[in-house]
Amino acid sequence: MGMLNLVLSNISRKPATRLYPFEIREPFKEFKGRIVFNPENCILCGICQKKCPPDAISVTKADKTWELNLFRCIMCTECVNGCPKGCLSISNERPKTGAKETVKVVVPIVDKPKADSPKAASSKAASSK
Ligand code: SF4
Ligand code: SF4
Repeated sequence: MGMLNLVLSNISRKPATRLYPFEIREPFKEFKGRIVFNPENCILCGICQKKCPPDAISVTKADKTWELNLFRCIMCTECVNGCPKGCLSISNERPKTGAKETVKVVVPIVDKPKADSPKAASSKAASSK
């Protein structure tokens, strides 16, 4: 009798599985899907590279490139928390199936004019008197 009840109750239930890839589950809000890099403010300081435990990030100042190996990244978010310019964030979207192993971005680093040193500024002020 117990078995019959189980069979009948399972007939009336929705399937426990999804018809993937036609039905894709919405990611959880806090799900760690992938690292997102916004190169706008990146200064190629290399802190993210130093903080990354599995050496998934490679910053090359000479080429002005920032590179992430997706297959090495363990989603620890050390780079996200360590970036002084807020260039890195974490998205709850997974990388697309068949994504390339590495993502390489050329950073449009802007050479900002250097601020006057305090000595130069004081001598400039003195000469203008
Ligand atoms: S992403 Fe952030 S921590 Fe990494 S090199 Fe650019 S500025 Fe530095
Ligand atoms: S999340 Fe962690 S493992 Fe992934 S790139 Fe950032 S520091 Fe490296």
